[in-house]
Amino acid sequence: MSTQGKKLFPTLAAWILAVILSAGLLSFLVWQPKIARAVSENRASSPVVITTLPETPAPDVAAAMPAFTPGGVPKVLTRAVATHTELNKNLRTGPYTYIVQSGDSVWKIANDNGVSIESIYFANYDVLYDQADNLMPGMELTIPPVTGIYHKWRSSDTFATVASKYGATVQDILLFIGNNIDLANPSVQPGTQVMVPNGARELIVFSPSVVGVDASGNTISSFSGPGACATNIGLFGNGFFVWPSAVHYLTGNDFGPGHNGIDLGAGAGSALFAADSGTVVYAGWMNGGYGNLVVIDHGNGYQTWYEHLESLGVSCGQNIFQGSVIGAAGTTGNSTGAHLHFEIRYGGTPVNPWDYLP
Ligand SMILES: [Zn+2]
Repeated sequence: MSTQGKKLFPTLAAWILAVILSAGLLSFLVWQPKIARAVSENRASSPVVITTLPETPAPDVAAAMPAFTPGGVPKVLTRAVATHTELNKNLRTGPYTYIVQSGDSVWKIANDNGVSIESIYFANYDVLYDQADNLMPGMELTIPPVTGIYHKWRSSDTFATVASKYGATVQDILLFIGNNIDLANPSVQPGTQVMVPNGARELIVFSPSVVGVDASGNTISSFSGPGACATNIGLFGNGFFVWPSAVHYLTGNDFGPGHNGIDLGAGAGSALFAADSGTVVYAGWMNGGYGNLVVIDHGNGYQTWYEHLESLGVSCGQNIFQGSVIGAAGTTGNSTGAHLHFEIRYGGTPVNPWDYLP
């Protein structure tokens, strides 16, 4: 292309563009009245109904408005009206008094209130003495708000000494809302009952009453009662136990803190059975909450204890075979209802019956 051609080309292109634009403008001016007329005629015959939202709404509108799906099921949770209000016991900040009902156990009361078994003992030493079998219907128990122990504040106490005494932390005491402690200036008036959440003490362990047999075969007992006798072990157990009652489930306290045995469901008057063969070394009333008690020594280190009997079917010194009837269940002694308190002891120490029963 020549030099002149290079200059001519942009000029020519500009002219062509100008002609096209002019033609477009002219044609719009010619057609515009017809378009305006057509729109007005259409509006008169059928009103325009906007059925869709703009494809791209302004950003702020899009953010504020949820997607709209006409005819769809609304995505909301429906909830039935609750007419019963149940207080969350775990949110309590103070103790309350509970009246023990027939059939209660320390296990059940602790569980119902979401606190440890020990917490029930700690708050009620004056009536339970750390023993589950001291529970009696009608007894008033103090139920602490949380697992822990109450401490009556003395003038010499500090948060550190009290926390350390019960194996808790200073924060446990300060932050427990029921203690109402001003965190800006923490102090407690002497005489105030302060809850130490997670605090604990050793349970007072009352050594279980003993019915032993000495080297010469005579029974020795650590208590006086009408059920003891001097006897020799004449029949030995096989070390395998059978159920002492027809009912094989727990209806009261379990084996654990403050309870040396298991409380098995056994209706008043129902038959109780020797869990293994042996010699009866105690049969009669025994103080301390046992009521009517039968103890069988199996001659192999094991003894089985049967408490709260309504009536006795054996007498002290009697040899008895496994499975034989030893008496009828009842609720004598400290008991919240007819049941069998059953213990297995080895070398005088209570062991967990669930580890031995079939
Ligand atoms: Zn018991």
